[in-house]
Amino acid sequence: MTQANAGTGTLAVWAGEGEDLAQGATQVPVVLSAAFGYPDVDAWLDVALGRQPGHIYSRNTNPTVRAFEEKMRLLEGAQAATSFSTGMAAISNTLFTLLSPGDRVVSVKDTYGGTNKVFLEFLPRFGIEVCLCDTADHEAIEAEVARGCRVLYLETPTNPTLKVLDLARLIAAGRRMGGVVVVDNTFATPVNQRPLALGADLVIHSATKFLGGHADALGGILVGDAGLVEQVYHYREINGATLDPMSAYLLLRGLKTLYLRVRHQNQSALAIAAFLEAQEQVERVFYPGLPSHPQHEIARRQMTGFGGVLSFTLKGGWDAVRNFLPRLRYAHRAANLGAVETVVGPPATTSHVECSREERAAMGIPEGLLRYSVGIEDTEDLIADLSAALASLS
Ligand SMILES: *Cc1c(COP(=O)(O)O)cnc(C)c1O
Repeated sequence: MTQANAGTGTLAVWAGEGEDLAQGATQVPVVLSAAFGYPDVDAWLDVALGRQPGHIYSRNTNPTVRAFEEKMRLLEGAQAATSFSTGMAAISNTLFTLLSPGDRVVSVKDTYGGTNKVFLEFLPRFGIEVCLCDTADHEAIEAEVARGCRVLYLETPTNPTLKVLDLARLIAAGRRMGGVVVVDNTFATPVNQRPLALGADLVIHSATKFLGGHADALGGILVGDAGLVEQVYHYREINGATLDPMSAYLLLRGLKTLYLRVRHQNQSALAIAAFLEAQEQVERVFYPGLPSHPQHEIARRQMTGFGGVLSFTLKGGWDAVRNFLPRLRYAHRAANLGAVETVVGPPATTSHVECSREERAAMGIPEGLLRYSVGIEDTEDLIADLSAALASLS
């Protein structure tokens, strides 16, 4: 029904919604049924063996969940898609499917906190060698990949300091070694960045963030090469980290406005980053759209927008953070991002809550840092809000 070459805004609205599920309803219904019945045992067998389309049991597939997967498949321009209960389930199921004892996985130090825990706490217990490189050092990453790499796992822009990896360059390095290249595209969304078009094998999202966009549902999605997605789907159907139909419905509804939301958030975040950079109470701003960003040229090459998340450090460290945060009027102080509301928080209570102060310092995360995920409010109101809170610091 949907043209695969339609624009992103059109796909966000229409893709995946072709199946006639409820007598002409214009919206995808929430199919809350654990199992699907077949009076004819031969027809049942055909579906169970995959010879005919259909659903058997909702741990495996479900019509509402399938519509969400299909929308994401088309939005990322992928061969196949499968979904999960959370973004972390997508990440851990993918890594545990692709890696076996004796294998080596190469990634960077700045991956999402939960991903970092999978690398450091869980994979080594299964005899998997994990090599985490300095995120800004592309030569070092290439050198480690050349030493052997079953999986190259990338994430860009990173959390919370918005470092940018050169995807084309690193994907080429991974592929030269025959590794599977996986990219966490959560911060960029398919509106701003298409790792599959740059040669990645698999793309992962925490759908909880920008895809759903309303901070009311958890979910994860994996898209990419059909053979690889099928392997991870099999792991997930057996191990059970399935997306539930109600969440799939909320994510589908959120996705309809993805293009509108993210384009507005791109513009707002750029204006806010430029504003903050000019304020005397602000020490440093991290945003790939700023010319002062160390990887700005790479970001311009591989992104069509710079995303809705920025971070900045206040002069005065943790004390300044404690004074500043309560004064913001238009922001949730919470451990989330990518929502319609602006959300703000320090790494100590959000992305790096598991780390000690010393560990954060060693990772280059200053105590005065704040992550600011721009919502869809009017840009001028957010700037006025930040301006008033900053004025109270001096
Ligand atoms: C939030 C997040 C995840 C984890 O997703 P959940 O849905 O919270 O499990 C993974 N990667 C990135 C970049 C994230 O921001």
